[in-house]
Amino acid sequence: MTQSTTTLFRSYLIEEYHLTEEPYYVPVADEVELFEAAYQQRIPLIFKGPTGCGKTRFVEYMSYRLAQPLVTIACHEDLTASDLVGRYLLEGDSTVWIDGPLSRAVKAGGICYLDEIVEARKDTTVLIHPLTDHRRILPVEKRGELLEAADGFLLILSYNPGYQSALKDLKHSTRQRFVSIEFDYPPRDIEAEIIQHESGCSDDDATQLAMLGEKVRNLREHGLGEGASTRLLIYAGKLMSQGIPHRRACQVAVNWAVTDDHAVQRSIEEIIASIF
Ligand code: ADP
Repeated sequence: MTQSTTTLFRSYLIEEYHLTEEPYYVPVADEVELFEAAYQQRIPLIFKGPTGCGKTRFVEYMSYRLAQPLVTIACHEDLTASDLVGRYLLEGDSTVWIDGPLSRAVKAGGICYLDEIVEARKDTTVLIHPLTDHRRILPVEKRGELLEAADGFLLILSYNPGYQSALKDLKHSTRQRFVSIEFDYPPRDIEAEIIQHESGCSDDDATQLAMLGEKVRNLREHGLGEGASTRLLIYAGKLMSQGIPHRRACQVAVNWAVTDDHAVQRSIEEIIASIF
């Protein structure tokens, strides 16, 4: 890491993650009440659900509602415990300790959202367990320290059961430390409202895009791995509001985005043609 990145890393303040504007979020079921109840009791949460269905937006909204700072960490297969907790870095002739994002959230008492946790290296679970029980501590092995979580701290994990494989599954010893909320794509009327709001397309286009989403998702039983996300439908709406013809917008933002399989693409093409 270069000197300038070190400086950048060190100047990162948890307060920067206080959301100052209310994120747009339309509740789909009782998830707001559940989150608030769990937060009051400091019960950690798992959000399960397909990609692009609103999990990240929801945690942003709840952080704003509860006036807590939010630290979001996108997990990937090289993410190690040190990336989360912190590490010593060389600065000139000396070494300095730099807290990782999880340590910062623990100290500041913020909400820490580990997105796609099953992607991370297995050594990260060693950190999660003591943070999720009555101890609420984070072991900082390299410094021989135990950090006690500040009062507002809460850990939230997300994972997509659709990607689940024997190798990448959340162990029961981990998942049974959390309350799990299942997310799915919003029902058609709510999804249309979201698409319209986020993309600026017309009400009619938004309604038809929501219908397209529903129909494409039904293909999941016919060889399509994952249905079209709300995010993709919003992209299609944005392209439409820029003047891209409807069918073309759906082709690039939905059809080609969800699959490479030509047979499935043909089916989606037909669905698009039946709607637009
Ligand atoms: P995930 O974290 O599940 O992958 P996101 O939270 O990033 O998905 O959702 C993708 C986009 O869909 C968001 O940026 C937002 O525009 C929209 N969205 C999905 N669900 C909702 C909702 N219930 N209320 C408002 N926007 C939503």
